[in-house]
Amino acid sequence: MTTPARGSLLGIEHLETKEILRLLQLARRMNPQKARPLLRGKRIVLLFYEASTRTRTSFEFAAKALGATTTLVLSSGSSIEKGESIIDTGNTLRAVGADCIVMRHPAAGAPHFMAKHLDIPIVNAGDGMHEHPSQALLDAVTILKHKKSLKGLQATIIGDIFHSRVARSACHLLTRMGVKMTLCGPPELVPDVAATLMPGLRLTRHIEEALRGTDVIMLLRVQSERLAGLKIQLQDYIARYQMTAARLKLAKRDAIVMHPGPIIRGLELTAEVADCPQSVIVDEVRNGVPTRMAILARALGRA
Ligand code: ASP
Repeated sequence: MTTPARGSLLGIEHLETKEILRLLQLARRMNPQKARPLLRGKRIVLLFYEASTRTRTSFEFAAKALGATTTLVLSSGSSIEKGESIIDTGNTLRAVGADCIVMRHPAAGAPHFMAKHLDIPIVNAGDGMHEHPSQALLDAVTILKHKKSLKGLQATIIGDIFHSRVARSACHLLTRMGVKMTLCGPPELVPDVAATLMPGLRLTRHIEEALRGTDVIMLLRVQSERLAGLKIQLQDYIARYQMTAARLKLAKRDAIVMHPGPIIRGLELTAEVADCPQSVIVDEVRNGVPTRMAILARALGRA
């Protein structure tokens, strides 16, 4: 095998725009409470080598809403702990009857590698610092619930962009849809080069400048597990980049506040901002289920 099985979702970067649009449309039509059992008889494995709450549970509920059965394989408590390779684990899961694998891994490219070796669709649920395509799709679905269209919007991402697969997938998707993107954070977390990775990105170190006139604010956690020795002065970070109610006033009056979670109250945002009427953080989580229903239905050729 060399080409990923049809229906695989490995990232946004190489996904055709018409496929993105199709997934967004499908996600908006999916209703977890009234779904047809499109995936009855299908077996979906959730293979998670990294911690997850939202992504894992929403893929599971999405699969079950469509009538599929799921099984969870974590690196602890499985043969991965005994040193089994990714491909041997994949072949094992295929041999027991998996029809699709949803996979999260700390190494960038791990799901792509799996997809090259297996003849079943692989869905990337986050690979290291690379991509998180289902999060980008559910974020686009969430924005579209609050704004008429993506085209022409101004979105600002603030925080640990360098370590964030969420930011990377969001930038690929939103710039493609005509959103003007601003990146903001300190040089350790948003290197100068970040703005040159895709056309249409603007970078500023000043949160006030980043917020002025923006329609969408996406906040990110400082990914302490990926800092690899890099020291961040948290008090300094908080003083310069924490989203507070006062700073929120600089954005458009109807700006929405997003965050992929987990949120760290008191660090990248105050509790007041997390719970304010402009915050759509819980909506994002909720929209994860229909979005992942769309992804799984497409993966298994039922949409
Ligand atoms: N939950 C997101 C991810 O898996 C963001 C984060 O962990 O900060 O990438």
